[in-house]
Amino acid sequence: MKIFVIDDDPFALHLVSHQLRALGFRQISVFERARDAVEELDRDPAAASLILLDLQMPDMDGIEVVRHLAQQHYDGGLILVSGEDQRVLATASAVARARALDVRGFITKPVTPDQLRRVIEAPAHRSAPRIPRKRYEPEEIQRAIANNELVNHYQPKVEFATGRVTGVEALVRWQHPVDGLVFPEQFVGVAEEHRLIDPLTRAVLRGALAQAREWQDDGLILTVAVNVSVDNLVALDFPDFIERAVREAGVSNKQLVLEVTETRLMTNVLLALDILTRLRLKHISLSIDDFGTGHSSLAQLRNIPFDELKIDRGFVHGANRDTSAHAILEASLGVARQLGLKTVAEGVETLSDWQLMQSLNCDVAQGYFVTRPIPVEAFASWHIAWDKRVSSLVPS
Ligand code: C2E
Ligand code: CA
Ligand code: CA
Repeated sequence: MKIFVIDDDPFALHLVSHQLRALGFRQISVFERARDAVEELDRDPAAASLILLDLQMPDMDGIEVVRHLAQQHYDGGLILVSGEDQRVLATASAVARARALDVRGFITKPVTPDQLRRVIEAPAHRSAPRIPRKRYEPEEIQRAIANNELVNHYQPKVEFATGRVTGVEALVRWQHPVDGLVFPEQFVGVAEEHRLIDPLTRAVLRGALAQAREWQDDGLILTVAVNVSVDNLVALDFPDFIERAVREAGVSNKQLVLEVTETRLMTNVLLALDILTRLRLKHISLSIDDFGTGHSSLAQLRNIPFDELKIDRGFVHGANRDTSAHAILEASLGVARQLGLKTVAEGVETLSDWQLMQSLNCDVAQGYFVTRPIPVEAFASWHIAWDKRVSSLVPS
């Protein structure tokens, strides 16, 4: 096992590497600057299979390191170390898990050999082993968009109080001629890096709006939510494009929700703010996605005219067993209520997730417990089945 120990305190580094050697580990690299560790992993992604990460560091804090590791698709284990209270550790590990990192556990300082042994011997937490997935070339993605190979799947949003289906989120998939159904994490990032996110978003939007119109013709008024990348929010004609697309589809502006991810939003605030405000003036709804995983999220909430807050699944699923996640949930719901935002819980996977969020008066549920995202052909039969299931899930 190749171990990285990252801590700005030379004494702590010395202590931990000594303890690791006493436990029989030989390949240990220590870093006083997190940046050096991240750069080392950039050069050689296999340089570490286990990382012990101190959360409080001056040059790059632990949450930033977590973000870099996720971007690098680091797939070794991660142990979080902190001198702060348990809550900071639990929050950081929820963030890391939300970013699909394999968090083996956390340690509070001072580190003891017993603590170390316990977390190192803990089994991998992640449910499924990460198979290295194929990344696609921008040319292939461009061709896929041009050939209409992108399809939307839809995941319902339902009210906790009534069980009523109020809308759906459109989630893009690529019906690849050879590889079958390809998921967004394998091509959305590449599209963002190569200026293809605009045509991608526009294709998804047109599909979602056309679908909203079909449902409307069948007597079902649903909102459709589309994920918007921050890179979409630098095109000044974006609000006009949106308005035109809504009009052409023949639905109301109020039926469209744009979901924006808070972490990436922060980098380009001014221009994004301009565009978001214009969208809002056109009565397009704005939703802040993955809430809880970002940096200065609360400050931005005041500036940006959001209508809806989606609590990241890292804080929802399993929160009944996790007091820190529970505290974050209550705080997020409180902020949302004060600002008059509708709240959506992502990642409602189990009956106990459903019951907890319902008891906390969250407005809307989305997650595997209701259904996974489904192709449009499956929607009507899912809806019938859900209506039968719902009476046992809502107060009578
Ligand atoms: P997201 O916006 O957070 O979307 C929710 C993701 O969580 C979906 O993954 C969905 O399948 C998954 N999910 C839903 N319920 C549950 C649950 O109960 N438990 C768990 N563990 N997961 C659940 P998906 O479809 O693979 O999408 C991944 C991400 O890709 C999305 O995250 C979104 O950020 C991005 N994405 C999807 N479609 C688009 C798109 O059209 N444009 C852009 N820019 N990004 C997209
Ligand atoms: Ca979303
Ligand atoms: Ca999310």
